[in-house]
Amino acid sequence: MSKLYIVATPIGNLKDITERAIETLQSVDWVAAEDTRHSRKLLEHYHIKARMLAYHDHNEREVSEQLVAKLLSGESVALVSDAGTPLISDPGYRIVRLAQESGINVIPIPGASAMLAALSASGLATDRFVFVGFIKKKARKKQLQLLVKESGTVIMYEAPHRVIDLMNDLLEVFGPDRRVVIARELTKRFEQILASSLHEQLVNLENGTIPVKGEFVVLLEGSTTSFDENQADEILQLLLTELAVSKAVGLAAKLTGLPRNELYQRALVIRDAP
Ligand code: SAM
Repeated sequence: MSKLYIVATPIGNLKDITERAIETLQSVDWVAAEDTRHSRKLLEHYHIKARMLAYHDHNEREVSEQLVAKLLSGESVALVSDAGTPLISDPGYRIVRLAQESGINVIPIPGASAMLAALSASGLATDRFVFVGFIKKKARKKQLQLLVKESGTVIMYEAPHRVIDLMNDLLEVFGPDRRVVIARELTKRFEQILASSLHEQLVNLENGTIPVKGEFVVLLEGSTTSFDENQADEILQLLLTELAVSKAVGLAAKLTGLPRNELYQRALVIRDAP
């Protein structure tokens, strides 16, 4: 029975490939790659001669069917992406699903992935984490709001020219004090992993301490608050009897660890209640 191999490749440092990945890429009938020219260079580096097929977001549907036909006729296929583990913010989902439904064995060949490399060195909690990949700008604040009470580490990917914008949205939703780790250019010459508050990280990006170039993983510490909305409302109610809204909100944010903007909305409701 032929097999579909999901093969992880390096995320920068070419030494980060497993022996099993090299053996698999050498032995399969076809290598399906996101960008054949890019992956050809990688294969040449390891002296692998392989028949290649382009497989990307725009032809995923047709090529999945062609690949499954090849697999059903007895040929084996390895799927690779430009970097790291295929399917992780990369195409491949359709072919894996179709292969599974067609009774073909899908074999992972594990290796590098930027999200796990970043998490392992982030110093943030690893017992629970949420990987959200790239969050589209349009719905970003709404999506981030859903993560306000998430206790696990939130892992995001972002392009360099959009990273400051992402950090601004994070600051707005989670407040300036939430810890965030920026992992840049992992496994490469200018690798940088820096942990600080959201506010300080924005300064770091703006003053060049963290150059806004290369590849970025942004990891946000999970919420550590044990306060629920009712308790926050009680605290706000008490503070609002003595203080103006902004002071009450600032103090409540320090006391509860809940984000200021959420507390601010609640404070306005409490203040304006009949
Ligand atoms: N499949 C890949 C993986 O397993 O990590 C991710 C592919 S996704 C299209 C590319 C994004 O992953 C980049 O924009 C960046 O956010 C992140 N990334 C990839 N390589 C990286 C590296 N060496 N250092 C930091 N982030 C990286």
